[in-house]
Amino acid sequence: MGTAKSAQLFKKAQKLIPGGVDSPVRAFQAVGGKPLFIKKAKGSKIYDVDGNSYIDYIGSWGPMILGHADPKVGAAIKKAVDSGTSFGASTELEIQLAEIVSDAIPSMEMVRFVSSGTEATMSAIRLARGFTGRDKIIKFAGCYHGHADSLLVKAGSGAATLGVPSSPGVPDATAKDTFNANFNDLASVRKILEKYPKEVACIIVEGMPGNMGVVPPKAGFMEGLRVLATQYKALLIMDEVMSGFRLCYGGAQNIYNITPDLTCLGKVIGGGLPVGAFGGKRKIMEKLAPSGPVYQAGTLSGNPLAMTAGLETLKPLAKKGVYEKLTETTEKLCKGIEERAEARGVKARVNRAGSMFTLFFTDKKLKNVKDVNNCDMDKFSTYFQRMLKNGIYLPPSQYEANFVSLVHSPADIKKTLEAVDKSFKGLK
Ligand SMILES: *Cc1c(COP(=O)(O)O)cnc(C)c1O
Repeated sequence: MGTAKSAQLFKKAQKLIPGGVDSPVRAFQAVGGKPLFIKKAKGSKIYDVDGNSYIDYIGSWGPMILGHADPKVGAAIKKAVDSGTSFGASTELEIQLAEIVSDAIPSMEMVRFVSSGTEATMSAIRLARGFTGRDKIIKFAGCYHGHADSLLVKAGSGAATLGVPSSPGVPDATAKDTFNANFNDLASVRKILEKYPKEVACIIVEGMPGNMGVVPPKAGFMEGLRVLATQYKALLIMDEVMSGFRLCYGGAQNIYNITPDLTCLGKVIGGGLPVGAFGGKRKIMEKLAPSGPVYQAGTLSGNPLAMTAGLETLKPLAKKGVYEKLTETTEKLCKGIEERAEARGVKARVNRAGSMFTLFFTDKKLKNVKDVNNCDMDKFSTYFQRMLKNGIYLPPSQYEANFVSLVHSPADIKKTLEAVDKSFKGLK
C-alpha cells in the first residue's frame, strides 16, 4: 500500500502548522522522505492513515511500555472521563501516584506533578537555583532535558567557557549561565566547578542518556558526579524523564545506587497522557510554593485523567519479572541485529540499556555525543527508509533510542530481524 493519504495530510498540515508537525523529530527531516500520519495503534503495532501497519519501536518516545491502547489503562481512563476531566483542585489520585513514585524512588521524598518533561526539568532547575542562591548550571553535551531556555544551550568555544544559545530566541544572558560538560568525562565537570566553585546551582544529567541515542555512563561516572556535586555544594538533578520506570521499577538511580537531590520524571509515569514530575529531598522541595518562596504552578497539573493513566500503567510494572521480560526481548532483538550486521559486513554497534537501544552505524565504541556525530548518517537514513518499507517504524534519527514494549512478541522480533537482514543488504 502507498502513503498517498499521509502525503496529502502532510501537505495540508504544512500550511497550518510550522513544518507540518507539533514536535520537530516527527517531520523525518534527519532521514528525508515524508512523515506518516497515524490513525491508530494497538499493542506493538501502529497504523497509518493509508492502512499500512508497522511494528512500532518509538512507543510515543517511551511512554507506551505496556504497548499501545492497553485495555486496562483505556478502561480506567474512560471511567475517569465520566467523573470529570479537570477540576483545578486536588484529588486523591495525586497522592496515590506520588506515594507510588516516592516508594519506588526513595530519593523523591516529595513530588510535584506537572504536565511535561520540559516543565519538570525547568522547574527543578528553578528550584535548584532558588535553594542554592546560585545561577549557573552544568549540563552535558548530547543530553536533552526538554526545551526550556536555560537548557537549549551549546558549548561555546573552548572548555569551561560560557554557553551560547542553541536556538534563536534564547537570550545570551540566559545561555551564559549554562555550561556544557562532556558526558563520561568527570574531568570536564571538575574543571568548571574549580573555575566557579561557588556559582554552580546544579549538575543535571540524564539517568540513562537516550537523546544522543543510547550512550550508557561508564562505571563510576554517575557516582563521580554525586561526589563532585556534594563537594561543591551544588545539587545533582537526575533527569529520569526517559529512564524512570523504563529501565527498572523506579529510576536508573536505583541501579547506580546513588541519591540525587532532585529527580525529574515524565513519559512512562503518564502512560501516554501529558505528565511530568519532579521531586527530591524534603528540605529542598519545601522551598516550593506554597510551602516556600520558589514559584511553580500549573492549571492542568495532576490532571485526573493523566494521574489515572499513570497509576494504571505503573500497576502491572510493579509485578515480578516484568523488567526481566522486557530486557530478554530487547536483548534477543539486539543480538539478532548484531549478528546480521556482522554477516552482511555492515559496520554497526548496538548500545542497549534495559528495553532502550540504539543501532549506531560505526565500528567504534561510543562514549559521548562526539562519537555519535561520527556515525554514518547516510547509512542510517537508508536503513530507516528500508525498515519502514518493510513494516518497521523506527525513530527517524540516529540520535534517538528505540523502545521495546511488554507486548512485542517473538513473532514481532522475528519479523523485525527479517526486515533488518533485508535492510542491511548491500549497506556498506
Ligand atoms: C523527553 C525528555 C524530556 C522532555 O520531556 P517532554 O515531555 O517532551 O517535554 C526531558 N528529558 C528527557 C531525558 C527526555 O527524554
